[in-house]
Amino acid sequence: DKAELAHKRILLKLSGEALMGNESFGIDPVVLERMASEVKAVRQLGVQIGIVVGGGNLFRGERLAKAGMNRVAGDHMGMLATVMNSLAMQDALERIKQPTRVMSAISLTGVCEDYDRRFAIRFMEAGNVVIFCAGTGNPFFTTDTAACLRGIEIEADLILKATKVDGVYSADPMKYPEAVKYNRLTYSEALERELGVMDLTAFCLARDHDKKIRVLNMTRDGALLRAVKGEDEGTLIEK
Ligand code: UDP
Repeated sequence: DKAELAHKRILLKLSGEALMGNESFGIDPVVLERMASEVKAVRQLGVQIGIVVGGGNLFRGERLAKAGMNRVAGDHMGMLATVMNSLAMQDALERIKQPTRVMSAISLTGVCEDYDRRFAIRFMEAGNVVIFCAGTGNPFFTTDTAACLRGIEIEADLILKATKVDGVYSADPMKYPEAVKYNRLTYSEALERELGVMDLTAFCLARDHDKKIRVLNMTRDGALLRAVKGEDEGTLIEK
């Protein structure tokens, strides 16, 4: 029921690692298909969906630079990695009959469209899922920053950061079993406690433009659906 929806337009950030599942590199097709069907289910509720896909399952500029590569060249590879993941996600969505457009921050004629905010909004209004790839198009940024940037541009009412943990904890729950999960945090609490929800560039951008962020575990069935309905899923960060 559309009247029950807490959110009309969302920006979903899927990390490259989320697509990797339990593999150590690349894309797990089973995970990809499951995520595509969750996205379609949310779309069928009437929610408009923009997605930013990461590339960390393939290449990260920072890691390549540590191995000796020029950082900018490495970041270009990282951004192109997000294009590959986005094309895979588009394919998975279209196989289940969910129309999807891929819009890139870097021109790739014949592969995907160039990013254009006004077209992106029109595509979403017409029922398409829009995937934003190539991050911000600039080196030294992350796809979390791209997610906050696009989320602000398209006026999404929520940024959903899909991870493999259940939300934001007081400490790393893998190392400290006594760590507690927060249901809700303010931007300043997250900053003061150095909880590392996102990198600071991304986080401060969301804070400065008052965009709510919800961190959730995409490996949990139905997590996305519950979050979109406004249920307590993962951790909500707001003013
Ligand atoms: N990247 C970049 N500019 C951007 C977004 C991403 O240069 O605006 C590069 C950067 O090298 C990054 C890689 O693309 O490491 C993959 O993105 P990210 O690490 O954010 O992916 P995720 O961790 O979400 O899988």
